[in-house]
Amino acid sequence: MTLSTADIRRKFIEYFGRQGHQAVSSSSLVPADDPTLLFTNAGMNQFKDVFLGTEKRSYTRAVSSQRCVRAGGKHNDLENVGYTARHHTFFEMLGNFSFGDYFKQEAIKFAWEFLTEELKLPKEKLLVTVYSEDDEAFDIWENQIGVPKEKIIRIATSDNFWSMGDTGPCGPCSEIFYDHGEHIWGGPPGSPEEDGDRFIEIWNLVFMQFNKQADGTMESLPKPSIDTGMGLERISAIMQHVHSNYEIDLFVNLINAAAEIVGTDDLENKSLRVIADHIRSCAFLVCDGVMPSNEGRGYVLRRIIRRAVRHGYKLGANDIFFYKLVAALTKEMGEAYPELADQKPVIEKVLRVEEEQFSKTLSRGMNILNEALSDLEGDTIPGELVFKLYDTYGFPVDLTNDVAREHDYKIDEEGFEAAMQAQRQRAQEASQFGADYNSTLKVEQQTAFTGYTENEGDANVV
Ligand code: ATP
Ligand code: MG
Ligand code: MG
Ligand code: MG
Repeated sequence: MTLSTADIRRKFIEYFGRQGHQAVSSSSLVPADDPTLLFTNAGMNQFKDVFLGTEKRSYTRAVSSQRCVRAGGKHNDLENVGYTARHHTFFEMLGNFSFGDYFKQEAIKFAWEFLTEELKLPKEKLLVTVYSEDDEAFDIWENQIGVPKEKIIRIATSDNFWSMGDTGPCGPCSEIFYDHGEHIWGGPPGSPEEDGDRFIEIWNLVFMQFNKQADGTMESLPKPSIDTGMGLERISAIMQHVHSNYEIDLFVNLINAAAEIVGTDDLENKSLRVIADHIRSCAFLVCDGVMPSNEGRGYVLRRIIRRAVRHGYKLGANDIFFYKLVAALTKEMGEAYPELADQKPVIEKVLRVEEEQFSKTLSRGMNILNEALSDLEGDTIPGELVFKLYDTYGFPVDLTNDVAREHDYKIDEEGFEAAMQAQRQRAQEASQFGADYNSTLKVEQQTAFTGYTENEGDANVV
């Protein structure tokens, strides 16, 4: 019997529960009291103060399945979506944590036991990395776990050395990879082909061992800690004998729902994957209180929604569609995240209104872009045009970039920045006058949505 995503999530929590870990619910995607962090991007975020020692909990071992978004800030996987088999904007991170309790040896043992005994993964398909100087971890993998030497790879880069910030807790990591087989392009970690999708990183074990001082010296922590993270979708892909995360139960259902809603039967289309990915981040962000806007978190949300809408348009959607996927998503994830089911009507409304607004200018903007692309000499889209699409048609740069990339074009980012700067300057000059007519002029007229069909002839260019 194949395990569903929900089964795997439950098995993980149960396994670590049996090892004395307190099950802790996922925290919000909007980090509590941490203005330095755009969105929650790892299971450890909600435990930051516990690791720092400024907050005490009644337990020293915890386990969670944390909702994460990596679409901006330090970790940004937005541009990877649709291009790799393993990256999402929204994903769930399974993690076990030790706050000054167990350390390297147990952390490695638990991870190995969970993968090879609970999930019964074949050992020969796994390989591990350690930080180049971490002989202790190498020794545990080799002599206590029995992983052959040639499958333990020393990595010298920051990929295998984690730190919370410029100062504070930090330490080496050890990552576990799964080999999906020779038929897929890619090489083992540390090799030139490691960015391929053959060897997929599934679990990162962080050994918080030092406290980095402002002068760069490393003090040993009196009570070292453990922070781990495993992508639920990645381990589900392995357990369901598929290669791409987008082929797991949850995504297949979302992709089918999206195909039906936009009216396509081209199930392999990359745009369906993008939409299925984006509905998760957008719905959960709204669920956690983020509203589309022109700055900060709200702007990131707006960018993701607009990107999803553009992909729907590309597939031939001829009506507002994105919000309709909230029902399918709630069916998939509402049990694990009851807040999603509770907030469903709000989420639908926010997504619908945002799409309605954008749809008014989307097809006109797309026509302008397509025309420019067909006349383009060279491979770079001028910054002025990127700016016009942004300013007049609400195309965030990464959306234009997404279209450009599909056609192997680049965008002139410098030129765009210059145009932005010039506009800021004009706005500043204008603000010296009392009345701001610009803002009055910019209020959009209420027009009924007429569908994406008005320029259908050009849609195939996108
Ligand atoms: P990668 O190198 O594949 O980008 P990472 O090293 O950035 O992954 P970590 O920061 O170590 O990832 O996060 C811990 C785990 O979370 C990863 O081992 C992976 O299983 C999962 N993960 C990270 N980013 C994503 C993502 N964008 N989508 C899905 N799962 C992810
Ligand atoms: Mg990454
Ligand atoms: Mg990595
Ligand atoms: Mg990693």
